[in-house]
Amino acid sequence: MQPLIITLDGPAGSGKSTVARLLAQRLGLEFLDTGAMYRAITAYCLDRGIDPKNKPAVAQAAQSCRLRFDWREDPPVLQVNDQPMVQRLRDADVTASVSDVAANGPVRLVLVESQRQIGLEHPRLVTEGRDQGSVVFPKAQVKFYLDATPRERARRRALQLRQEGRAADEEEILQLIIVRDQKDSTRADSPLTCPADAVRVDTSNLGIQEVVALLEKMVTQRLDGPQTTDPHGAGKATGQARQ
Ligand code: C5P
Repeated sequence: MQPLIITLDGPAGSGKSTVARLLAQRLGLEFLDTGAMYRAITAYCLDRGIDPKNKPAVAQAAQSCRLRFDWREDPPVLQVNDQPMVQRLRDADVTASVSDVAANGPVRLVLVESQRQIGLEHPRLVTEGRDQGSVVFPKAQVKFYLDATPRERARRRALQLRQEGRAADEEEILQLIIVRDQKDSTRADSPLTCPADAVRVDTSNLGIQEVVALLEKMVTQRLDGPQTTDPHGAGKATGQARQ
């Protein structure tokens, strides 16, 4: 089977994770949640009393801890030094500090390298994050950028938290989303951006299943056209998405 990388980027609460996972299932591809990796470094630091704003200490932590996914699980479970980390990743203190960790250049170097390695080992992949189409896999065959209004994203995040049995104040979540968007899109290193060759999809008025069906259709159409055979860099990218 030929390598196939599909990237989904976008801001917090745009539905990327759910959509990417369902799209991967429908297309028979694997699924990579790169936000989980930034969250894991953040949790690792917080749990060891390392200030997320202390750039050298956080960079050192990222270089010394070992992140790997257990691909036997669906979705793959992230392990930090062989310990599975799932619930902790969504805790409020992790969410509040993750953008500081993600703005740390050496941390990004470690994680970008690790994500590219995962792409080589799992070459048929739907990967989601903030920089997957722009930086990590610039030659991906299909790129999407999912967006929604901040209000709708806050509503969805609150619903998701309540479904997980957690407390959720929508107004507070809205303010946190606005702050995180601002930090993620203005940082110097790999800011959140819509790649020029990505398809931008506004999901504000669409249900998850509608978004997945739309993306699946676009992927199928794209793959029926001319394609690149090597999304990791050696091939010529020809089957790129239109805006
Ligand atoms: O998608 P999620 O909310 O889990 O991402 C958490 C944070 O990780 C984002 O707010 C962003 O700061 C960072 N991130 C990133 N690059 C990625 C994925 C996530 O900077 N590829």
